[in-house]
Amino acid sequence: MLDQKVVQLLNQQVNKEFYSAYLYLDFSNFFYDQGLEGFGKWYLVQAQEERDHAMLFIQYMQNNGERAVLETIDKPAISPENAKEVLAEGLKHERYVTSLIHNIYDTAHSVKDFRTMQFLDWFVKEQGEEETNADSLVKRFELFGDDPKSLYMLDSELGSRIYTAPSLVL
Ligand code: MG
Repeated sequence: MLDQKVVQLLNQQVNKEFYSAYLYLDFSNFFYDQGLEGFGKWYLVQAQEERDHAMLFIQYMQNNGERAVLETIDKPAISPENAKEVLAEGLKHERYVTSLIHNIYDTAHSVKDFRTMQFLDWFVKEQGEEETNADSLVKRFELFGDDPKSLYMLDSELGSRIYTAPSLVL
């Protein structure tokens, strides 16, 4: 049986991951609207990954006899004015998600819930990658965003991102 504090945080994370998917879908729509279809595709794939994360939390709860309660997903709170702002918000959001994962880990640790800690290990690593990717996008846009040719090439590169299901098997 899982500790109820842990259950509450896992359940909350389901909503946070769906919110991330919603936010990145909004980002994707922004970029498609701007004609930056590669960036749009990149964030569309990112949205798919976030939905997968939510599903993994639901499945982990199910595997431990807990039913996830689905709450209202907030409207994306950010209305960025330009591409640079979108990417900066993406990095900020991933840092926030990392703090949420770490908080669940910390809570699981405090009640000696080693099973949940092991489940979260994948997410701790994943968040490291998410932050690196988001940071790289910010930096590359700063370097190349003002030059149309370079921006075209960056957009083309990002457009080649292909969705793959998460490597974590529960
Ligand atoms: Mg996520």
